[in-house]
Amino acid sequence: MMEQFAQVALPVPLAKTFDYRITEHVPVVGARVKVPFGRQHKVGIVTAITTTPSVAAHQVKAITEVLDDAPLWTPAVYHLLQWASRFYHHPLGDAMGAVMPTLLRKGRPAALKQQKWWQLTEAGQNQPVTGLTRAPKQARVLTLLTHGPTPHADLVEQDITPAVINTLVDKGWIAPYTPPLEGKAWARHFAISEDKPSLNHEQAMAVATINASDGFACVLLEGITGSGKTEVYLNVLEPVLARGEQALILVPEIGLTPQTIRRFERRFNVPVTVMHSGLNDTERLSAWLAARDNQAAIVIGTRSALFTPMANLGIIIIDEEHDPSYKQQDSFRYHARDLAVMRGHEEKIPVVLGSATPSLETLHNAQTGKYQYLRLTQRPGNAVTARQGVLDIKGHHLEAGLSAPLIAEMRQHLQQGNQVMLFLNRRGYAPAMMCHECGWLASCQRCDAYYTLHQQHQELRCHHCGHQKRVPPQCGDCGSTQLISVGVGTEQLEAQLGELFPDYNTVRIDRDNTRRKGSLESYLAGIEKGEYQILLGTQMLAKGHHFPNVTLVALVDVDGALFSNDFRAPERLAQLMVQVAGRAGRASKPGTVILQTHHPEHSLIQALIHKGYQAFADSALAERRQAWLPPYTFLSLFRAEGHEDNSVQQFLQQVRQTLAASPIQYDEVHIMGPMPAPMARRAGRYRWQLLIQAPSRKVMQQWLTVALPVIQQLPLSRKVRWSLDVEPQDLS
Ligand code: ADP
Ligand code: ZN
Ligand code: ZN
Repeated sequence: MMEQFAQVALPVPLAKTFDYRITEHVPVVGARVKVPFGRQHKVGIVTAITTTPSVAAHQVKAITEVLDDAPLWTPAVYHLLQWASRFYHHPLGDAMGAVMPTLLRKGRPAALKQQKWWQLTEAGQNQPVTGLTRAPKQARVLTLLTHGPTPHADLVEQDITPAVINTLVDKGWIAPYTPPLEGKAWARHFAISEDKPSLNHEQAMAVATINASDGFACVLLEGITGSGKTEVYLNVLEPVLARGEQALILVPEIGLTPQTIRRFERRFNVPVTVMHSGLNDTERLSAWLAARDNQAAIVIGTRSALFTPMANLGIIIIDEEHDPSYKQQDSFRYHARDLAVMRGHEEKIPVVLGSATPSLETLHNAQTGKYQYLRLTQRPGNAVTARQGVLDIKGHHLEAGLSAPLIAEMRQHLQQGNQVMLFLNRRGYAPAMMCHECGWLASCQRCDAYYTLHQQHQELRCHHCGHQKRVPPQCGDCGSTQLISVGVGTEQLEAQLGELFPDYNTVRIDRDNTRRKGSLESYLAGIEKGEYQILLGTQMLAKGHHFPNVTLVALVDVDGALFSNDFRAPERLAQLMVQVAGRAGRASKPGTVILQTHHPEHSLIQALIHKGYQAFADSALAERRQAWLPPYTFLSLFRAEGHEDNSVQQFLQQVRQTLAASPIQYDEVHIMGPMPAPMARRAGRYRWQLLIQAPSRKVMQQWLTVALPVIQQLPLSRKVRWSLDVEPQDLS
């Protein structure tokens, strides 16, 4: 017989598979194998079986162990991974390794840990119990097992020791028993809680439309917070679960609250499995297996849960589809929302994208008819929507960023017994420290950035490389001791609020303050109980929490977002505004939202305040079309960094030349750069970028596919650190 070899995708950053000799049985494609790699062993996935290895047969090492009898993923997820590896130009083995539970990557069996059971062997069945008068415990085991296979735990409960069991096994009278998997048991007991609201007209229409889709369909469900999107999800799940099919629900990183999970658990008496970054390795593996084997009916998870294999998936729901946390920002840079649509296609099932503030990409797809467009415009119970206002702070005296009119408004709301929420997207005490005599600014030695002052710890910290040092006693230039802070961060605002409002308690929620495990939860609980009246935080505070007693929300400084060089900054600001407006207040206590800005006339603010998110989105889309930006074009970003400024720039210059020499020529493809990254030096490395714009995904893919193998061969490609981000979400 011809010798056979397996092509194996390994978790290494190389865009190729590796051949291994098959010694025992032939593994199936998609199974894990353990193989020698360098001086270690690695676990990889078999992608093909061949009789002709790519190197001389005698150089090919043998597979150490075949770990799975069946493919690890369902065919749909396996195809999705292959597709994603091609689309994002990320090595398949590395992508597979990245989305596999850690324990599977370490070779742990891909099976739920089964309870041990025992049964009588034929010899045991013929063994008269009466012959065991001097071994009553052994006799008891035999008697118990005559009723059928019995769990090990039941025997232990009857005071049977492992020694007794081992003796019986040695005698050949009892043997282990494997109970049949109780897969899908939930479907037999499926029931829906009686305690649920009847849907309003728009909700009912949305549910009917989604449930009418036969096979793949993508639906945008747009509705302000509180308009009843989750209620639509719950209703959409009814027929899906009733058919015995599973549901996959993705939520943003911070949006996965116990309340969300409880709502699904209360509505249906089916197992709900949760997957998020807080799980330990064992929990993650069992959640993954429960999903795959249809032990879990509903899987709720963050970004990476998208790759969970599910035996019988019936629907995918992406909540807050606009949330940036769906994009992985390093290594395997996939977008979970975009891949969810792909997975829906592959599985032939509907995909629901829900948001109060859809991303411009999704909105464009809905407006052009690529997705179905469903809207919820009313809030159940006729809650009043928030009042919005702009405070022009030009020329105003500010106290730690707060203008006098804002302070007055805060006082009014606090005196009425309500809560007030302030947003400031800069943590620390002040974003810079300056010498009052000569203007010297304390800046990080390793980055093009100023140190942030953290007064509480008497430290200067670089928020870009993590470097920190004691606050210097003197100016680094002229030696003056007159050092002052510039600008306002959350820490300073917190201190100022203590002085302005001594009778009220302030809680600060930002990354510095919530590092300790459980601290965020305890702050949120304190807010709910009314222990704090003033809530201050960065974006962290905006997501996933509803604060019914907050009646005033203020965005302390929005000017940064208006004039950012990130073209998505206005979109993110608009989303933040609408989110906070929707989260504050309730029917009996309508909220007020206030923006402080030096540019009240700015068109974005005008559109948003006076006409709402829709109008803003329309004008932002028009701007994007003019500027030839997504969703009207498709971007890819090469990033490169290294200790030598020249070679980094030169490498990207060569990338540019390689792309420009492409045999596929299109007038509409533009290459911009090499240009210095917005932060041209970070952690001691020089950083450059090259941006590609193409009129379609297809053209972009053709270009990249032709050029990348050449780029990977460039000698400089091994000297600098570089990466390719296909459809980047952030251009820094
Ligand atoms: P969203 O997910 O859009 O924020 P929810 O589904 O959470 O909205 O609904 C907001 C609140 O309104 C919840 O308390 C929910 O129980 C309630 N609700 C939703 N739909 C209805 C309805 N048709 N009738 C009465 N209450 C509803
Ligand atoms: Zn730094
Ligand atoms: Zn000085």
